[in-house]
Amino acid sequence: MSRDSFLVFGAPAIEEDEIAEVISCMRSGWLGTGPKVAQFEADFANYKEIPYTAAVNSCTASLHLSILAAGLRPGDEVITTALTFCATINAIIHSGATPVLADVDPRTMNIDPNDIERHITPRTRAILPVHFAGRPCDMDAIMSIAERHQLKVIEDCAHAIETEYKGRKAGTFGDFGCFSFYVTKNIVTGEGGMVIARNSEDIAKIKILALHGMSKDAWSRFSDAGYKHYFVTECGFKYNMMDIQAAIGIHQLKRVEKCWTRREAIWKKYNQAFNTLPITIPEMVEPHIRHAYHLYTILIDEKKTGISRDAFLDAMTEAKIGVGVHYLSIPEHPYYQETFGWKPEDYPHAMQIGRQTVSLPISSKLSDRDVEDVIAAVTRAIKG
Ligand SMILES: *Cc1c(COP(=O)(O)O)cnc(C)c1O
Repeated sequence: MSRDSFLVFGAPAIEEDEIAEVISCMRSGWLGTGPKVAQFEADFANYKEIPYTAAVNSCTASLHLSILAAGLRPGDEVITTALTFCATINAIIHSGATPVLADVDPRTMNIDPNDIERHITPRTRAILPVHFAGRPCDMDAIMSIAERHQLKVIEDCAHAIETEYKGRKAGTFGDFGCFSFYVTKNIVTGEGGMVIARNSEDIAKIKILALHGMSKDAWSRFSDAGYKHYFVTECGFKYNMMDIQAAIGIHQLKRVEKCWTRREAIWKKYNQAFNTLPITIPEMVEPHIRHAYHLYTILIDEKKTGISRDAFLDAMTEAKIGVGVHYLSIPEHPYYQETFGWKPEDYPHAMQIGRQTVSLPISSKLSDRDVEDVIAAVTRAIKG
């Protein structure tokens, strides 16, 4: 009854248009940061309805640069969620600032604004919310806290390309919005990221920091307008996106809504199929939000479900269905325990989700047959 081939979790949907664009990019001889990156930035700005965008080589880079461009200094505290990918925390550490964790709302799995308030100190300078799985954070509450305490807001939108909150697009609430085009994300460029910013000076700063701190990028130095000297005005980084990557992104972005519609259909099928199983399915999508449907996560509570989370993961792998865990809570990892003294028990909701959660495949690439196979495997693993 089992599938013939393994269903790879988060497999990207690549089509002929991006393949042709990559080939044309390679034939053009211009592989580095150039006209295709400029076009991808313009297209993304158009999609997000905000003028200021900067393409970089990862979301991690975009978070790092945003924190620096926000003017944070060593000793400054950034409040973020205990339920996120390690890159969110590492970017804060790389910038020299100090990460401070808040627990999540167990219903939405997003950072709990009340717990943000509890962690504010005289050194707090910024809030870094993560729109988990593609569900927007409570941005009214977060922006009101930020305003009262004069904090910068940097949105981790790695899951949230299509996300909206009360009709407004994720990434446009804060000073910065940071996006990922890693291979499993809703738009892929292989590796890649994008920063959107509320003002032009911030995006100019980010563009300089992303390429060694140089005042002119390579495209404007070597184009047919003639050689131009550059000057190093900051000690920057090597975080620029290549045209080869942007060539993929331009076509992925054109299909973003079509892929979203497909994932929404899969989401609804899963909801319907798992409704009666003894597992927790995602919270309903409230009318005031637009979910990006990046992750479909279920909770396996051994007492209720009759199987442990890790045994469930094994059963799915056995049935040739690739699954993920997003995420063990941040305080479960030894580095952060040793460096900050964090304990999982201090963030009980994030801890519990981290120990029970399983992400099922929800790539737009899934066929109806794949979706049926996932449903059958989940049902069999639980009902035996
Ligand atoms: C994937 C991810 C990142 C990092 O993105 P990269 O592009 O791989 O650097 C950051 N935050 C979250 C929540 C993510 O899921």
